[in-house]
Amino acid sequence: GQSLAKEEERIDGQIKKRGHKVVAPFERLSNNRSTVTLSVPDQSPMERFSKHHLNVTQLCEQSWCEIKVVYGFLKPHMKRREMRRTAVTTGASIHLAREREANPDAVTVVVYTREDREALKLINLIQMVPALEAGQLVREFPVLGVLDGVFFLGVVDELYCSKSGDLVLSELKTRSHNSLPHPAQAKGHSLQVGVYKLLFDSMVQGSMKRDQLLHFLKLRPHQAFGSELQRYAQKLGLLAVTFGELVDHLLVVLHFSNLQPIDKLCLEYRHQSSGVLIGNREVEFEETQLRAELRDYLAFWRGEREPHGVDIEDIEEAWKCRTCPYEESCEWRRNRLQEVMVDGSKKAK
Ligand code: SF4
Repeated sequence: GQSLAKEEERIDGQIKKRGHKVVAPFERLSNNRSTVTLSVPDQSPMERFSKHHLNVTQLCEQSWCEIKVVYGFLKPHMKRREMRRTAVTTGASIHLAREREANPDAVTVVVYTREDREALKLINLIQMVPALEAGQLVREFPVLGVLDGVFFLGVVDELYCSKSGDLVLSELKTRSHNSLPHPAQAKGHSLQVGVYKLLFDSMVQGSMKRDQLLHFLKLRPHQAFGSELQRYAQKLGLLAVTFGELVDHLLVVLHFSNLQPIDKLCLEYRHQSSGVLIGNREVEFEETQLRAELRDYLAFWRGEREPHGVDIEDIEEAWKCRTCPYEESCEWRRNRLQEVMVDGSKKAK
């Protein structure tokens, strides 16, 4: 515990030393609450938080509460603490066990650059394509591409062919309670698998472009792989030695693959401590509705609208704040509570 606290202190210290804009909007108040600038005029959240792309999971966090997403950037130490806590409670071990089961011969490859790290994901993807074509189950399948002008990255838990020949995407969710999730939680899960399908389908339909990938990920095409990655790629029979060559190879593999769009989206819920199945849910894929939702979520990232927090008057939503690490200092919540109190006293008069 002590070393974790030290690490946190060290990282926070580094952020402060660099004079990073994370610290700039804070103003300490006497009651130990801090006030932050939730949105900045003329600067979209993408610009403000130096985002060139989004992870699909970020979209799911956003569907939970946009103010929480903003706080996650402004108070990174609290987000890290929450992530460590949820790593325990979200059954990271069940995910890991599954991954190991699917990949018993996994090797460790030391990466030296960002290009190496992303290349490793692409190499995994290239290897999984023929397995999937042969009808085998694959796990941790990377998906990437542009949706509504924003580049997304994601990793699909499972893809497999059902007995009836359907290509099924399945996402494992672990729960601390032995029950299916509340609609507010399930909403993010459905969004996640829907966006995975959009990305996967556009990849197999040839929509991925070399320049987009390099541009959005800010990667150098001529960067040669590190020595370990070069050896690993050679062992797999890949001729590529630079990131750009690997991207070219991936595009050829996808172009000549016979993979079809995903037919079915499933969510598998398991009890985190026992690993016992709680239930499966099939998710309806409504493309028009999903794309409209996506546009609205992205309007926040582009700074086209203000971030929205939890509706504290809605009983179906208000409980989210009770599990939120920012509850004490949340400006949004405090302002809404004040508004409710003012409304209440007006009505009483
Ligand atoms: Fe969102 Fe509620 Fe947390 Fe504020 S306290 S960030 S409104 S979940």
